[in-house]
Amino acid sequence: MKIDINLTKIRNKIEEAEKQFGRRNNSVCLIAVTKTREINEITDAINENQRHFGENYCQEAVEKIKAINHSDLIWHFIGPIQSNKTNQIARYFSWVHTLDRLKIARRLNEMRPDNLPPLNVCVQVNTSKESTKSGLLINELENFIDALDEFKRLKVRGLMSLPEINENFDSQRESFRQLNKVFHKLNKNHVKLDTLSMGTTIDMNAAIAEGATFVRIGTAIFGPRIQ
Ligand SMILES: *Cc1c(COP(=O)(O)O)cnc(C)c1O
Repeated sequence: MKIDINLTKIRNKIEEAEKQFGRRNNSVCLIAVTKTREINEITDAINENQRHFGENYCQEAVEKIKAINHSDLIWHFIGPIQSNKTNQIARYFSWVHTLDRLKIARRLNEMRPDNLPPLNVCVQVNTSKESTKSGLLINELENFIDALDEFKRLKVRGLMSLPEINENFDSQRESFRQLNKVFHKLNKNHVKLDTLSMGTTIDMNAAIAEGATFVRIGTAIFGPRIQ
């Protein structure tokens, strides 16, 4: 894969979408999603000045983070969180996008090392109302976010969603609009959220149209995943 060319393309697409949907220039930050990718693919992206990376599997991620050992990188944990992995996640990542249980929040808070700044967290939201999907329902968010207040080693930054795959722009947009609406509603009440993590290769433009501040892109940068 020509990672340099792909990165340029995706950065241009982000810029175009910012213009098209009246978003400020550089208001959307690209996270390169590197689950299942080799170290040399990640270093290719680093050489193109990519700094934000997303990983889904803790053990795989920590091995790569240690091997790459680059102090300027910002690692985002975007996979399901098992409670026996909270120690590693709290130690090696700057961001967690998939928080949806208080028990996990408590463990991440306890395990975040004192010499690091608070762990940035996004609460994962299930906008498709499927009981099999991870994430909180929209009507559960306010109480959940209030309850996170006691965890001083976590910094609540915003909301994240990973909708079902859908090829239709308008339906993609509709699902992101729900997140955007509740984001503004929560901000009106009391909390200060500044992050909407939404949009992957297939629905990035719809997410940018609805206010995404992080898009999480794997396939468009590194090609299709085998696994
Ligand atoms: C894999 C993954 C992505 C990237 O998806 P692509 O379709 O490869 O762009 C984004 N977000 C999450 C949570 C993922 O698991």
